[in-house]
Amino acid sequence: MMQLPTIISISILLNVIIGAFLLSLYFLRQQSSYLYWGSSCLIFVCAQITASLRAIIDFPLITHYLANLLIIAAPLSAILGIHAYCQSDKKYQSACAFVLVSSSAILLPLYNLPISQLLTTAIIAVCFGYAAFALKGLHVKRIMHLALLKVCFVIHSLIMAIQFLLLLSDYLGLLNIDLNQIIAVILISHIIITTLTAMIWPLIMFLESEQTLSDLANRDPLTDLLNRRSFITISNNYLEKANSSLTELCALMIDIDFFKRVNDLHGHETGDEALKWVANKIKSQLREHDLVARIGGEEFAVILPNTSQVKGEILSERIRLAIHNDSFHHNNQEINLSISIGIITHKSGTNNVNELLAKADKGLYKAKLNGRNQVVTMAF
Ligand code: GH3
Ligand code: MG
Ligand code: MG
Repeated sequence: MMQLPTIISISILLNVIIGAFLLSLYFLRQQSSYLYWGSSCLIFVCAQITASLRAIIDFPLITHYLANLLIIAAPLSAILGIHAYCQSDKKYQSACAFVLVSSSAILLPLYNLPISQLLTTAIIAVCFGYAAFALKGLHVKRIMHLALLKVCFVIHSLIMAIQFLLLLSDYLGLLNIDLNQIIAVILISHIIITTLTAMIWPLIMFLESEQTLSDLANRDPLTDLLNRRSFITISNNYLEKANSSLTELCALMIDIDFFKRVNDLHGHETGDEALKWVANKIKSQLREHDLVARIGGEEFAVILPNTSQVKGEILSERIRLAIHNDSFHHNNQEINLSISIGIITHKSGTNNVNELLAKADKGLYKAKLNGRNQVVTMAF
């Protein structure tokens, strides 16, 4: 089992590296969340160094009071980083400053007494509990990483709560055991989990910005569906696979009926919300491996791999009914929408998805001519 000084040294080294990395990201990108998280790592390093000085100097104002304040400041800085990333308003800065200033005022007269450690532990437990709660406002696509970060904060808060209860029982004389060993284990867990948290954050931020860049290139920002370009690229791969495995594949062209009226009667903003509603309705009827894109203003295209004509028609009808049998509600208004669909089944032959979509579009045109709100199948 590793000894405390070794763990502290490794943690200091890792936190310095991560902190410096986050601060350099801040200077490169000017995103204040990096500044707060980088500072949090470095503050934690300073806290560990000042607390470790207890072994060599007898100057409690630094080794106890300052160390405790730094230990409180580290999660506060992390919380500010979360709020900066969520772009929440500035009131959190004042709230964190208030916690730090009041902690320094409360702990100053007590710094040489055991109760100062008790209070510090309680404040940190609350800070980490709050940090887990603050993560709720974070909108990231990688839910797993966020969950991991949340787990770290919750465990951290629980560890601190346990330490608080142990110290309180000891303070009140309810415990007859030597707490030093247990506190050492808690300290080790505290250091390990803080370091782990500091490592997960940059990972989330990095993957998230990569995801955002790829989304900007591949997705329609309004509906979050694929855009035309990425849809065509992926569909062509699907088509190639269907050709080589001799499986059937269906292509759908979908257009909202009389959509101009929605804009004219309810405004463009409501029109945008209606588009998102229709996009979600379509998506809700599809399987995981089906492809859907917004390829024009109020036009959508769908590729159903490994799907026969009959199955494709059933699915198209389901999509049509999902929209027809429900109403879109916005700003206390109820709007009834319908869609027309053209569908084509590809058996083998063409390798070009545009050709397939052009044929499905002919079906769509017929559906419009026949009175809209219907599915028309085209022969290949
Ligand atoms: P049809 O049944 O023949 O398809 O009638 P339509 O009114 O839906 O067809 P048309 O092509 O005449 O009008 C499509 C409308 O879609 C025109 C445009 O204002 C609207 N539109 C296109 N893109 C957007 C968008 O991003 N947001 C909003 N709100 N409206 C859009
Ligand atoms: Mg239309
Ligand atoms: Mg149209």
